[in-house]
Amino acid sequence: MKEEDRAVIFFDIGHTLAVGGEMSPRRLIGYRLGLSERDMKAVGKLIMTSSIETHEELSSLIEPFVRHLGSSTLGEIVKEIWEEQKYCVELLPGVEEIISTLSGRGYELGIISNIWHPFYEGIKEKAGTLWDHFRYVVLSYRVGVKKPEREIYRLARDQVKGGSYWMIGDTYEMDIAPAMVEGFKTVWFLIRPEREKETLARVLRRDIPPPHFAISDLRELIEDLRIF
Ligand SMILES: [Mg+2]
Repeated sequence: MKEEDRAVIFFDIGHTLAVGGEMSPRRLIGYRLGLSERDMKAVGKLIMTSSIETHEELSSLIEPFVRHLGSSTLGEIVKEIWEEQKYCVELLPGVEEIISTLSGRGYELGIISNIWHPFYEGIKEKAGTLWDHFRYVVLSYRVGVKKPEREIYRLARDQVKGGSYWMIGDTYEMDIAPAMVEGFKTVWFLIRPEREKETLARVLRRDIPPPHFAISDLRELIEDLRIF
């Protein structure tokens, strides 16, 4: 493939390639530690944009928000959440086949994700050597910015240089809108349409631009529609 024909396909992780526990990490932490809605939001942003790779570091980060708990109790709860996040990861059906097929068809693959370390470790472990197909990996907790900030898409593009870029994800606000502004082609994966219903209505009314493609099953990328 010539340099200018090269296409790089970036994927979101949560609800695109994998699912985790019932609650988002910030809700889980907030619930277990009894945080207010406001502190929960603040902690949520912190955990997704701080380069924390151990549960001890996470405890220190959260400590100012939980003065009502002793530090050893805090440490234990945080360790529990951390471990749970690693083991709750499940790859979505067809993901293995999609990664290897796209790679076999000559595409380069990447990740652009709002994520924290334990969940990322969990997905890498579940995917095994298949994960090596992802050549470009842009993670919010490593780069310090998260979607929908456009900066995270620019960082991804800067890694690649040349060719065209695709972004595939389940959330219009995070994965589609900012990516389109930064020149990515987009595939909206409607895995949870009920969560996107207002946005869907706005797209149909032409209030906001449609993605380049929409799919209801990830396999449509390589079969049926055969976008790639
Ligand atoms: Mg997602």
